[in-house]
Amino acid sequence: MLNRIITIANQKGGVGKTTTAINLATALAAIGENVLVIDLDPQGNASTGLGIERKERRLSSYDLLTNSATLEEIVVPTAVPNLSIVPSTMDLLGVEMEISSASDRVLRVKKALQTDAARRYSYVLIDCPPSLNLLTINAMVAAHSILVPLQCEFFALEGLSQLLETVGQVRQTLNPALDIQGIVLTMYDARNNLAQQVVADVREHLGDKVYTTLIPRNVRVSEAPSYGKPAIIYDLKCAGSQAYLQLASEVIQRERRRRAA
Ligand code: ADP
Ligand code: MG
Repeated sequence: MLNRIITIANQKGGVGKTTTAINLATALAAIGENVLVIDLDPQGNASTGLGIERKERRLSSYDLLTNSATLEEIVVPTAVPNLSIVPSTMDLLGVEMEISSASDRVLRVKKALQTDAARRYSYVLIDCPPSLNLLTINAMVAAHSILVPLQCEFFALEGLSQLLETVGQVRQTLNPALDIQGIVLTMYDARNNLAQQVVADVREHLGDKVYTTLIPRNVRVSEAPSYGKPAIIYDLKCAGSQAYLQLASEVIQRERRRRAA
């Protein structure tokens, strides 16, 4: 099966990477895709948000990066049908040092995903840490495309040029086909004039790379992780969940167009 590997990256923290990983994955799974989330953040928020408690985490993305277990051994199912995860643990904090002298240190995730076990998933979403470190580079090297969440705030575009520069470097070296799947604006508050201005600015700068879907700031979305549930399961009807379902259909449409091209 042809799969799509999408890395969710932005070196800024708190912009909605993990929330997008969890809810986009759940929305894709709900539409019938077979989805894998790879949690590459030592904080493990994607793992927690998908209901994998710390004490249950045995093998993790650390084992993937250190070649100490196979993808098949590490993957665990979540409570969401069609959605599995490679959880993360704090061990990941030290992994950069541990593999720094290995010649294939940026290829570890890519290699793990070039396997039959990985091809069972139609979508693989990789949740990155808030840094352009070796973990994020591994995710960019492994991916077909990257999806960038931008928070609707005054400094939304700050740091984006550095991110795109890194994407450019990865393209020049290890992954020439790396594409931008799209840019999603998160935590949008329609009552806030500044947020409207930010949306207009971002659309002007980045054009049709920006998804039509705006993810609203929504308290149900922020509550859901404390119940170990994606917002889409916690409260399907809330505006945030509906927006993530809409984002999933945009992502799929872009994939269809790309395949047809
Ligand atoms: P990142 O992974 O980029 O650090 P998160 O997805 O963890 O960002 O989001 C940062 C914080 O903002 C979290 O507390 C999260 O619950 C909250 N948050 C994210 N998206 C929304 C939203 N649409 N509405 C309300 N809160 C949100
Ligand atoms: Mg995160």
